[in-house]
Amino acid sequence: MKAIKDTLQMQKIAFKHLKDGDKIGLVPTMGALHNGHVSLIEKSIKNDDITIVSIFVNPIQFGSDEDYLKYPRHLKKDLEICKKNHVDYVFMPSVNNMFSQAYKTFVEVEVLQSMMCGAFRPVYFRGVATVVLKLFNISCADRAYFGMKDFQQLKIIEKMTKDLNFRTKIVPCPIVREKSGLALSSRNSYLSDEEKLLSLNISKILKEAAKEFKNKTLNVVEKKAVNKLKKIPNSRIDYAEIVSVKDLSPADKNTKKAVFAVAVWIGKTRLIDNTKMTK
Ligand code: AMP
Repeated sequence: MKAIKDTLQMQKIAFKHLKDGDKIGLVPTMGALHNGHVSLIEKSIKNDDITIVSIFVNPIQFGSDEDYLKYPRHLKKDLEICKKNHVDYVFMPSVNNMFSQAYKTFVEVEVLQSMMCGAFRPVYFRGVATVVLKLFNISCADRAYFGMKDFQQLKIIEKMTKDLNFRTKIVPCPIVREKSGLALSSRNSYLSDEEKLLSLNISKILKEAAKEFKNKTLNVVEKKAVNKLKKIPNSRIDYAEIVSVKDLSPADKNTKKAVFAVAVWIGKTRLIDNTKMTK
């Protein structure tokens, strides 16, 4: 396994593999790796000749009042996890190497970037789309792996890839959860023991809602779930919406495939989770 810090060097290596006919898989991450990330890595190892994991806490997707500085960074452990999982390259550029002082170009995926998480984190998806586009160009990826845990992010990357004619194929990967149901997230490390217990309610409520969606009306299911979420002590809802899988528009009675997506604060930690719902 090689750790590469320089964008040009990474791109040169990727071009060489492309020329040699290797299929390249990219797993973009912000590090503090857990089994959710590992599930993406395992898929790439299985599908692709070469697996590149990027570890980059991307400053341009954090608002000024957000947790960029305190975001967990465990590079040594991350490298061990990558090595153990047979990753070929870890791409871990510095901020200056990715975004020089003179940097001026940004990607916006209209409409999708403004709803749900985007309504609460205005610069978030512009930052995500921009860095992912750069990572696609640097890695020459044939396939890129994204978790359904960040469902809106996945839809935005799919849309950007289609709109901008990227050759990279997006591979969606299922949410990995703890036995308790809690979706794995690097930010779970912010939670105290007590907050962690409270946060288990989120996946439980989503699971119940998905069951009810089969035979109850959408409004009833959504309202009931929101009421339950509101009752979690020390919590605050950013949003809890049942939307169409296709384009994240609000689901209606004709929607057959929906996603119930939520962002809920437990204390000072913002957690997102979602579940697919089918009639
Ligand atoms: P992050 O490091 O949080 O930016 O996540 C990097 C990638 O891992 C994204 O595509 C996430 O959707 C994915 N990911 C994070 N948590 C999970 C999880 N619990 N299950 C599956 N994928 C995940």
